[in-house]
Amino acid sequence: MEKKITIMIPVYNEQESLKILYDRLKNILKQIDYNYEILFINDGSNDNSIDIIKSLRKEDSGVSYVNLSRNYGKEVAMAAGFDYAKGDALIIMDADLQDPPELIPEMIKYWEEGYDDVYAKRRSRKGESWLKKKTSLWYYRVLKTVSKTPIQEDTGDFRLVSRRAVEALKRYKEVHRYTKGYFSLIGFKKKEVLFDRDPRIAGKTKWNYFKLIDLAIEGITSFTAFPLKISTYIGFTVAFFSFVYLLWVILKTLMFGESVAGYPSLISVILFMGGIQLICIGIIGEYLSRVFSETKNRPLYFIDDYNGEKWNG
Ligand code: UDP
Ligand code: MG
Repeated sequence: MEKKITIMIPVYNEQESLKILYDRLKNILKQIDYNYEILFINDGSNDNSIDIIKSLRKEDSGVSYVNLSRNYGKEVAMAAGFDYAKGDALIIMDADLQDPPELIPEMIKYWEEGYDDVYAKRRSRKGESWLKKKTSLWYYRVLKTVSKTPIQEDTGDFRLVSRRAVEALKRYKEVHRYTKGYFSLIGFKKKEVLFDRDPRIAGKTKWNYFKLIDLAIEGITSFTAFPLKISTYIGFTVAFFSFVYLLWVILKTLMFGESVAGYPSLISVILFMGGIQLICIGIIGEYLSRVFSETKNRPLYFIDDYNGEKWNG
């Protein structure tokens, strides 16, 4: 029996790229001796993406699609992809061709050698701003320092995972998702392949700095309780120095009396402490809000249809 490779592609308003992506993929898939399934996850696009996908499926039965009921974001779209993928191996790819399909044969080669997670590491990133590259670099550094789970640096979601790794990934049912971290958490044998990240071929990136910051906070809060510890440390440090200062004030008053001055120092201490307290409450809030939404245990996503089959509950 021939093995099947699933190429999973989350799609959100990518009408300009889809045809080009399909042709380039097809070109590569022709050269390798595997069955394939190109699985598009339409994440509530409001352009013509879904029509293009449907017409691709009409021509090629190797194309499948999951049509989500609305836009859920790439993280959830990928979770849906894990659920519907049929292949013995799964390759995750962006629709904008920033992840070159030409890397697929190499990934498959390593998979055949027994690796469960072949991830593509960016040697360079073209077409991305200096600020985006730098912040991404710093972020990974911080994340690496504060969390115990090793997260691969400069690695996106472009990778091949084996069937058993997909089964493992499917067990993460969290609402607040950080898929990149799950790849590390599941373990198994990993292998990196290097590539140059191209600029997107068409359309605009769906990420803006707010979304990136959100994902960054997600990454930190879902992998480490370190920020909570920071508040504890700050608390202890401030309490210690306050106590020393208190002794000094009492002593000074006993020895020299007190002429009630010190408005500037008082107001600055009050404001400073107020700020620190608000930050700490904010940090607790970030965690608490996650506890809140996880305990609600809401379904992760709904689909409108899978390959034209309507979802009816
Ligand atoms: N994407 C998605 N849902 C979203 C936003 C993006 O499925 O809400 C898909 C998008 O179509 C693309 C991939 O996720 O295939 C990566 O998105 P993008 O290229 O905008 O991100 P970047 O490469 O700039 O990080
Ligand atoms: Mg992109």
